[in-house]
Amino acid sequence: MQAPRGTNDILPDEIKTWRQLEHKAVEICHRFGYEEIRTPIFEHTELFLRGVGDVTDIVSKEMYTFKDRSERSLTLRPEGTAPVARAYMESNLKGIPQPVKLFYIGPMFRYDRPGAGRYRQFYQFGVEVFGTNAPAIDAEVIVLALDFFRSLGLSDFALHLNSVGCPDCRQEYRSALQNELKDIVSTLCSDCSERFDKNPMRILDCKIDKCKEATKNLPSILDYLCSDCSAHFEQVKLLLNKLGEEYVINPRLVRGLDYYTKTAFEIISTVGDTEQAIGGGGRYDNLVSTIGGPDTPGIGFAVGIERVLLAIKESDAYPIKGPTLDVFVAKAGNVPDYEVMPIIMDLRNAGFSVDMDYMGKSLKAQFKTANKKDARYVVVLGEEEMQSKEVTLRNMTTGSQETVGLKQLAERLETT
Ligand SMILES: [Zn+2]
Ligand SMILES: [Zn+2]
Repeated sequence: MQAPRGTNDILPDEIKTWRQLEHKAVEICHRFGYEEIRTPIFEHTELFLRGVGDVTDIVSKEMYTFKDRSERSLTLRPEGTAPVARAYMESNLKGIPQPVKLFYIGPMFRYDRPGAGRYRQFYQFGVEVFGTNAPAIDAEVIVLALDFFRSLGLSDFALHLNSVGCPDCRQEYRSALQNELKDIVSTLCSDCSERFDKNPMRILDCKIDKCKEATKNLPSILDYLCSDCSAHFEQVKLLLNKLGEEYVINPRLVRGLDYYTKTAFEIISTVGDTEQAIGGGGRYDNLVSTIGGPDTPGIGFAVGIERVLLAIKESDAYPIKGPTLDVFVAKAGNVPDYEVMPIIMDLRNAGFSVDMDYMGKSLKAQFKTANKKDARYVVVLGEEEMQSKEVTLRNMTTGSQETVGLKQLAERLETT
């Protein structure tokens, strides 16, 4: 038996890095005043049709949609924003003090072509804020994302920033784009020629070289922002300047859907040969109303954890050291487990992580095991030690040894 294509097991060796990454995410969110939310793994398909948009690749090509036994159409969540917006609406979180600042970490599902850092079940860390259109929250969300990457030891990344305006300013921009594009649209890829009528802004986003080349002199959305959108963008930039964050203005950073508004940003990893987005987000002031809720501004970002792990592995930050075993208890001679286990449990109850041998291995082999497990200390327990109530405590980093009374063991470990 094999795991389904595009899925993988995260084995103990790797989970330490995962734990550290999740721990950093939780810790930073706490410092910024964000609280965790957990939404179901599956939702009514309708939520994603409306909240992600049926013109997107995600909805048209990549969703795991199925009928349950009562013939309801359900979908494994392909992203986290629509479910969190649904929860905000359904639980009437508009009734509590605003803004509501939330974060989530969990698996998402997309029928995508598997590749490096790309899985069909993959993990995202994301934040969503509802209930304010203050530019300060845009800056906060961006800084939170940057702080997260920095906390993992990453430094080779760039913040790309844009404003996608609002439906008002986009209308004029869209016609300007179509006007410029109408003569060259036949030279673009088939996706782009489809986008020409429905969604010309997404042509800016095309990854195909001939499209990039043909469209490099197109007008910028930033020249078409209405006064409200323009003032908002200026404030976000001012805030980032004051917070000492650098950014690259990237007018080609667009979103395909109408409910996205104003700030859009991406964090691009510049480690290795290829530039790769490791996270992104932006404002979606019309999302909650799109899925049937009251008019509510919102903003968020999401990070693909597997991609971040790839970036970490390519940088000097790897491996991130997780907590290791404090003590490995090695047994010498014929000491029965009923005498060893109470000692181990005393240490565990004192807060130390402790393991022992269950395989009847030789003392030498037990030391090897302790090394593999990265144990900080080894305690040797033999018949002699049980009688004298004194044990040898070996520091596995320095190799130094000392004799410690059994009763003082926990206390001694505490002070090292
Ligand atoms: Zn506008
Ligand atoms: Zn194209």
